[in-house]
Amino acid sequence: TGREIRAVATRGYATSEEGAYTQDGKRIVTLIPGDGIGPEISKSVVDIFEAEGVPIVWESVNVTPVLKDGKTTIPEDALDSVNKNKVALKGPLATPIGKGHVSMNLTLRRTFDLFANVRPCKSIIGYKTPFDNVDTVLIRENTEGEYSGIEHSVVPGVVQSIKLITEEASRRVATYAFEYARAIGRGTVLVVHKANIQKLSDGLFLSVAKDVSQDYPDIKIEEALLDRVCLQIVQDPTQFNHVVMVMPNLYGDILSDLGAGLIGGLGLTPSGNIGQKASIFESVHGTAPDIAGKDLANPTALLLSAVMMLRHMKMDHHADSIQNAVLKTIAEGKARTGDLGGKATNTQFTQAVISHL
Ligand code: NAD
Repeated sequence: TGREIRAVATRGYATSEEGAYTQDGKRIVTLIPGDGIGPEISKSVVDIFEAEGVPIVWESVNVTPVLKDGKTTIPEDALDSVNKNKVALKGPLATPIGKGHVSMNLTLRRTFDLFANVRPCKSIIGYKTPFDNVDTVLIRENTEGEYSGIEHSVVPGVVQSIKLITEEASRRVATYAFEYARAIGRGTVLVVHKANIQKLSDGLFLSVAKDVSQDYPDIKIEEALLDRVCLQIVQDPTQFNHVVMVMPNLYGDILSDLGAGLIGGLGLTPSGNIGQKASIFESVHGTAPDIAGKDLANPTALLLSAVMMLRHMKMDHHADSIQNAVLKTIAEGKARTGDLGGKATNTQFTQAVISHL
């Protein structure tokens, strides 16, 4: 929500006002259209921003992997663009499974040290799901855990994959979660973990969070095992509406898709990757290869990510206008895309949103 993003943006984590501007004062924002449905849903955002008259200029770059000194990196112009503009909107990027280049998503997160991944999950009024009052906020550690990328074969048939947990990364994401909870008026931070099994790694994550909580006497800290949270969240997600959940990387990745399922699917859930050097906003979903190029994708998740981005840049007025138009379009029901049971194309949905601005 506006309150959430604005509050966090003012606490020094996000570079909400730094960045690049055109001579006539328009903010320049990096656009990474991405793969699969990425270019289609990015076009929807660009068209809606134009119709709304948002005072930004897009700088479009590709992040096709580049091999440099035997390592996969981001193309120079994309690096320069995000470094200069500090804010980016990103479509999904494909990652080969089991082989091939490292994930460019991970590379972006590591390169810009985007340490906290904020994933709100809120029911859309008028779109019927088993629970119609879901309002969860999940903060995922975004730089290490099982995503450390340290994997090797020990002997044939035996592979080791290293889960990395550091005090430093745990402390900054926990601190972010407490600040976020305070900023949005939620009284509890819930640390989700498996410290019963991963005693050292998740144990460290949990103990650091407890240590951080000492600095926040106004916010309670609670802890819960990941498996228990999975059970409870599908039984009644609203019991998590009053907390901010924080957890290691992989758990957050999986639990947030579960949350998306509860409110109507991956076509609806936005996210923000927050760092001190830059912030990159993107939908939770991937490239949807099954529907790519067919004008069938739902652009809502990327649109709501763009709305989070606008709030981050303190353009709340435009954020409200676009968010209301998107929600109204879905609630009305006439122009829903296939994932929400409708027949509208991405283009038709986009036109309907524009008509509601
Ligand atoms: P996916 O999210 O692409 O698709 C899962 C299902 O959800 C598919 O049936 C798809 O059609 C549907 N779906 C997703 N987004 C939709 C939308 N906007 N509108 C309508 N339906 C939508 O997940 P996947 O198939 O597991 O992954 C495909 C590729 O995306 C992989 O290469 C993966 O690595 C990548 N990926 C990228 C990101 C990212 O860039 N942040 C995130 C997740 C997956």
